[in-house]
Amino acid sequence: MSFLQNNEPMGDVSWISWFLGVKGNEFLCRVPTDFIQDKFNLTGLEFISETLDVVLDQEFDNQGWDDGLDIADAEQLYGMIHARYIVSPRGVEDMRLKYERGDFGSCPRVYCKGQKTLPVGLSDLWNQSHVKVYCPRCNDVFVPRSRSALLDGAMFGTSFPHMFFMQLPSMKPHPPLEKYVPRLYGFRLHQKALMPHEALETTPKNIGSSVSNLPFLASSTPKSLLLPFSNTDLNS
Ligand SMILES: [Zn+2]
Repeated sequence: MSFLQNNEPMGDVSWISWFLGVKGNEFLCRVPTDFIQDKFNLTGLEFISETLDVVLDQEFDNQGWDDGLDIADAEQLYGMIHARYIVSPRGVEDMRLKYERGDFGSCPRVYCKGQKTLPVGLSDLWNQSHVKVYCPRCNDVFVPRSRSALLDGAMFGTSFPHMFFMQLPSMKPHPPLEKYVPRLYGFRLHQKALMPHEALETTPKNIGSSVSNLPFLASSTPKSLLLPFSNTDLNS
């Protein structure tokens, strides 16, 4: 049997194939029907059997969708099963293929150098927040720059990326070697200059300045907020 993108068998007219093909659902992977049919995997999920029938429909008629069927219910049921599937060994493997293909985008931080990201939820409950992407290099989360940004975060859950790297530890990248250093005319800024304005006003003034008179600095620049050059600064 030959397959199209997203493991879709040729000529497949199932509900799942239709749903995965909808714009904005690119982050989702194909949950095998045998996983959905296993009652154990549905434990604790609230749904009516008609919704499950829709999700498992092998001859889904896109045109008949409005006839009393609720897309939101089917989407939620598939999403909650999806969150369980992607932390299983088979699911991790499916998501690894998508990760390596770059389906989930890359970290926007300069020093993460295009590190690929993984989807993550900030909650395991439905309707709390949209999906985010997690960067395994800086361990931070970001809003995806993808049409998939509107998917519910519960479709992926809070554990997924961490389970992913627990099962595939060799894929965990090293943390970034470089860190951004804020500078003004080549001077590193003092910690106080990076604090919010209100916090600055409450600190005592003139804590001592070692900066000599520098004509190119605007007279309004508080010299106590700059650190003097060092040889390493000049060479970097
Ligand atoms: Zn990063």
